[in-house]
Amino acid sequence: MNDVLPEAIARWHRVERAFREISTRYGYTEVRTPIVEPTQLFVRSIGETTDIVEKEMYTFVDKGDDMLTLRPEGTASAVRAYVEHAVNGREPISKWSYVGPMFRRERPARGRYRQFWQAGVECFGDAGPFVDAEMIDMVVTMLASLGVQDLEVLVNSLGSGETRAKYKDALTAYLSPHRDRLSEDSQRRLGTNPLRILDSKSEGDKEICAGAPSLLEFLDDADRTHFEELQKSLDALGTRYRVEPKLVRGLDYYSRTLFEVQGRGGELGAQNTICGGGRYDGLVKELGGPDVPSIGFAAGIERILLVMGGEDRAPTIDVAVAVADAALRVDASVLLRDLRAAGLVADGDLRGQSLKSQLRRADKLGAKVVLVLGPAETERGVVQMKDLAAHSSNEVPRAEVVARVRDRVRESA
Ligand code: ATP
Ligand code: MG
Repeated sequence: MNDVLPEAIARWHRVERAFREISTRYGYTEVRTPIVEPTQLFVRSIGETTDIVEKEMYTFVDKGDDMLTLRPEGTASAVRAYVEHAVNGREPISKWSYVGPMFRRERPARGRYRQFWQAGVECFGDAGPFVDAEMIDMVVTMLASLGVQDLEVLVNSLGSGETRAKYKDALTAYLSPHRDRLSEDSQRRLGTNPLRILDSKSEGDKEICAGAPSLLEFLDDADRTHFEELQKSLDALGTRYRVEPKLVRGLDYYSRTLFEVQGRGGELGAQNTICGGGRYDGLVKELGGPDVPSIGFAAGIERILLVMGGEDRAPTIDVAVAVADAALRVDASVLLRDLRAAGLVADGDLRGQSLKSQLRRADKLGAKVVLVLGPAETERGVVQMKDLAAHSSNEVPRAEVVARVRDRVRESA
């Protein structure tokens, strides 16, 4: 679990701003749900035999007897809220977005943390496939706006429940003779959740899976048309993608469209999946709601930061106020208040240090302008305005100084 210190926050804000801006343009509005939920919500939605539920959840008993879990992902909570507030009765389509921390007790690595941040969306009420394409296009647009170019979009279709069941049997039949050579985790999954073996990170498992039957051969006509139309839409939008028939992803609730965005540049290393999403047409009903088809994705903010580039930067200010005489600190605090009221980022070191040290500090904070209050100048109703970039200095009437600084700062913006 990481601290994000102030010098790193500007890059975080850039990502969050880009996500909010783009998702708003695509018709999404933010929802905020609690960070803890009843454990059962995640067990039912994510699935009992998934890594998350089997070993990664932070679960605790809340005083009495409620079993609660720190949310490991955002979709289950969003669906719970959607059902609880009977949102489908008010509107046919709901487009929700969220940004916040998620918790999974995984083995930490670069790009893999126990508290990490996701930005995601959920679209309820549209069975697709055009909204699926729109969503994939939105993620790529957002990442491009952050300067992340070297991406690969993988898409697949899991088909409907029946398709999945048939495929599960075929996959089990294919993998069973290789059982002894599978990793320990995968051997266990063979009996419970064989699709997850396709998602295994073990090299040996990957080799065996290379010869597995393809999901796409099992799609029924309606599934296949849906998937073809998705691809046609992506082509029309100019969104590049690759069909990856082995893409399954770790959660149980998916059906039909699945997608992942992988990054290739930067410092991602093995954790190169930036964003994962898919359709979960049965989940709303599964959680006690009506039959409402839905699709969503979540992007890992830390992973975007790893591919985005750019340096951490200490925060800067527009203008500093300094005093030549400690007795003028009251005047300085009034001037600071006036500058701030005018929308300027203003600060001053009023501890009573020497003028030299105050000026050094102003320079360190990146101030473009320093206003120096001296006894003689104050007597005459003027302030000394030092332009640090232009290395110039002149006297300005106190009554005009705020406007003058504002003009100077605007000029250099
Ligand atoms: P991975 O295969 O990398 O474990 P996942 O399939 O578990 O990913 P999802 O549950 O789909 O991932 O979450 C969506 C996104 O959230 C991921 O693509 C990734 O960017 C991010 N993410 C997931 N787990 C972590 C983590 N432990 N630390 C940082 N980011 C994460
Ligand atoms: Mg994972």
